[in-house]
Amino acid sequence: MEFATLKRRIRGAAIEVFDPGHKELCDDLIWNGRKPASHPRYVVRAACVEDVQTAVRFAAANGLKVSPRGGGHNFPGIALNGDVVVDVSGLDHLHIDMKSASAQVGPGVTNVRLAAALDRNAYAFPVGHCATVPVSGYLLGGGVGWNSGEWGIACFSVIGADVVMADGELRRVDESNGSEILWAVRGAGPEFFGIVTNYHVRLQTAPKAIMSSVHVYLPSDAQKVGEWAEVAMASAPANLEFTVKISAPPPEANAPAGAFVVAVIATAFATSEHDARETLNALFADAPDGAVETVDVIPTPFNALYDLTSVSTPKGKRYAVDTLWSDASFAEILKRVVTGYGARPSMESFALVALRSPLSIEPGDAAFSRIGKVFSSIYTVWDGVENDQANMAWLRETMMEVEPLATGTYVGESDLERQGRPVAIHSPEVVLKLSSLRAKYDPRQTFRSLDVDAARTSAA
Ligand SMILES: Cc1cc2nc3c(=O)[nH]c(=O)nc-3n(C[C@H](O)[C@H](O)[C@H](O)COP(=O)(O)OP(=O)(O)OC[C@H]3O[C@@H](n4cnc5c(N)ncnc54)[C@H](O)[C@@H]3O)c2cc1C
Repeated sequence: MEFATLKRRIRGAAIEVFDPGHKELCDDLIWNGRKPASHPRYVVRAACVEDVQTAVRFAAANGLKVSPRGGGHNFPGIALNGDVVVDVSGLDHLHIDMKSASAQVGPGVTNVRLAAALDRNAYAFPVGHCATVPVSGYLLGGGVGWNSGEWGIACFSVIGADVVMADGELRRVDESNGSEILWAVRGAGPEFFGIVTNYHVRLQTAPKAIMSSVHVYLPSDAQKVGEWAEVAMASAPANLEFTVKISAPPPEANAPAGAFVVAVIATAFATSEHDARETLNALFADAPDGAVETVDVIPTPFNALYDLTSVSTPKGKRYAVDTLWSDASFAEILKRVVTGYGARPSMESFALVALRSPLSIEPGDAAFSRIGKVFSSIYTVWDGVENDQANMAWLRETMMEVEPLATGTYVGESDLERQGRPVAIHSPEVVLKLSSLRAKYDPRQTFRSLDVDAARTSAA
């Protein structure tokens, strides 16, 4: 199939490298202000499933590598790592089936849209913490969303999917039909060997009350905060989300240059306001003295949660991010992250160290195979290409201090550009199974994968 034929056959748009506006379009497809250096030869913006099938067949017929693109939010911009980028953000249907408490969700549906639509119907889903991320790559990588302790890692709520395979055929997979493909949909991330054009997801009953409380400490109190958290969270229910955020104080605080704070943020997803308050009050009952600021229990429905998270990650900034799971001491991890944070080159960078309740739902058997009781993410945020090196070096140095304690990293927010990463995304068994599934379902390697990316980088 020629490119001209592809263009004629699809309902959406297709553009190639020689067309005016190609570079600008590619840059626009990546959310990070730091854009990938190389651009794909072709971009197909699918308007329907048939467009996706045609694009995959075009790539296969010409020996080209396909790279699916959802919202372009994966920080290193890996969605452009192919010859033919197939953008599925236009597939944004959303059908809620009230009877079966499930929904058909197009890959282009964003977290904020899904949360709002479900809320109107008294349902909920473990949507991610960033409003603009679509379910496309979020669910495929695992999905560490709100209330994951009670609702689980989001990909385990995927009960079926429609997938365009390497030969361009569309398959509907679920537990009884194509279960090994569904197994991979749940967490393969960029190692997946198809394009998801629809997710069938199980829904949760919406919590009657989502409430939060925040206690802010100085960095000198981090050790006692860490030790207290470990004890307090040991008896916490699964519906309590607990995160320590290390960041610069807001400008109105007029703090000295380089100052930072350690904020304990707890959110309860409860069946009543009374229960939410009780859970939060019990958590903070023995909180260490010395908080410099306290926000008492307040209602934080999903739209308020998104307002709170979006201020830290404005679009247009340059980002590099890395994460780790760990079963080591929360206090120790917090200490190492706080120590590293003090040396950050950019005051806008921030770090999160979350601690899961021991009652949190454990993931089942799926490609998503790395987890721990602690989840830590470091978000490096800056302006100016001239500052790339210093900020990325800082991220890697800080991670190297914490990584000896890691059980794995999370593919959705991983520093995939780093050579020789010591911490794995998938367990060794999953790596083997994924590679045999890739050989079975994509024998000609039509879809890019992390190995293909690495081989291309070293050949360049
Ligand atoms: C500000 C911010 C906050 C975030 N917060 C969270 C969070 O709270 N929890 C969390 O879990 N993650 C979070 N993430 C990470 C995010 O979920 C992942 O990076 C995810 O991959 C983004 O989805 P995307 O569709 O934009 O991926 P893209 O960047 O478009 O694609 C990345 C890769 O995913 C694969 N892919 C994407 N869509 C498909 C598809 N339909 N079919 C097949 N392959 C596909 C492809 O291999 C592609 O190369 C956050 C990201 C940002 C930028």
